[in-house]
Amino acid sequence: MQNVLIIGSGCAGLTAAIYAARANLKPLVIDGHEPGGQLTLTTLVENFPGFPEGILGPELIDNMRKQAQRFGAEFKAGAVSDVILDRRPFTIVAGKESYQTKTLIIAAGATARMLGLESERQLLGHGVSTCATCDGYFFRGKEIAVVGGGDSAMEEANFLTRFASRVHLIHRRKDFRASKIMLDRARNNDKVHFHPPGVVEEVLDASKGAVDAMRIRDVATDKVRTLPVEGVFIAIGHHPNTNVFKGKLEMDENGYLIALDGSRTSIPGVFIAGDVQDHKYRQAVTAAGSGCMAALDAEKFLEQHLD
Ligand code: NAP
Repeated sequence: MQNVLIIGSGCAGLTAAIYAARANLKPLVIDGHEPGGQLTLTTLVENFPGFPEGILGPELIDNMRKQAQRFGAEFKAGAVSDVILDRRPFTIVAGKESYQTKTLIIAAGATARMLGLESERQLLGHGVSTCATCDGYFFRGKEIAVVGGGDSAMEEANFLTRFASRVHLIHRRKDFRASKIMLDRARNNDKVHFHPPGVVEEVLDASKGAVDAMRIRDVATDKVRTLPVEGVFIAIGHHPNTNVFKGKLEMDENGYLIALDGSRTSIPGVFIAGDVQDHKYRQAVTAAGSGCMAALDAEKFLEQHLD
């Protein structure tokens, strides 16, 4: 029987583990299918407080994991395939293992949607990014591209003009999913250059380990051209890792879990933290903060339910 079981080992889950472990609750962390979460997909992180020179994403995550282990947190590999939350203790199934826990912290994160190109995967963190707030600063004075046609793409394109000399907006359709106000803002920005509908076929150049261009197929003419850019921001949405909680916990229309008050959910003893409940801020530091809140809420819950 666990006191606290944490699903997810990104920034939110690990911070929850540090707090729960230091409260002597011996938390168990189930890693999930992307151990370490989105920070493991980045290179330099310059906006996490406490690191004046920046720190590599994987190193930051590794440090958090060691910090949690030092106070007694345990880790198990495996993705959660089922949860039974209608009675306490809760039952969590991951692979062939089944766990019973008095409280549950869900920090399963969200995954950035990708185009699905091999070159995009290879260059992630080396010129390809899914987070303008995190990486925009690295592209000062450079020409870059944003891919997508929703509010995120418009917001990121506008934001990136603070740094980039030019932002190329690449979208696969003539019509945009973005709201009119966001679209107009990007259209009225002199530094954002809208291209005819096009599909990204390749990000170049994986063999050099850096981005220097992208190949785009024009949807109307089928012609493929090469656009020189030094960075590519993929802004085609995220999906929260919440499938397993469908019908069991309250979600919004995009599948994000809904926090009721701090980290609480409609089920007493189940708490949520990080990007699984946050489609707005999505920062390492906000995820860490919410992981801390969830652990404190779980600790308080255990104090009040000493059964
Ligand atoms: P979204 O609205 O789902 O838009 C995703 C965009 O990416 C669409 O234009 C889509 O193209 C494109 N796309 C998806 N898969 C693609 C692929 N494989 N290749 C190329 N393009 C692809 O996602 P979002 O922009 O992240 O927004 C998510 C939610 O957050 C929305 O409700 C949005 O309003 C909200 N949001 C609000 C704000 C704000 O108000 N400040 C800021 C950001 C996000 P198609 O249109 O062709 O499908």
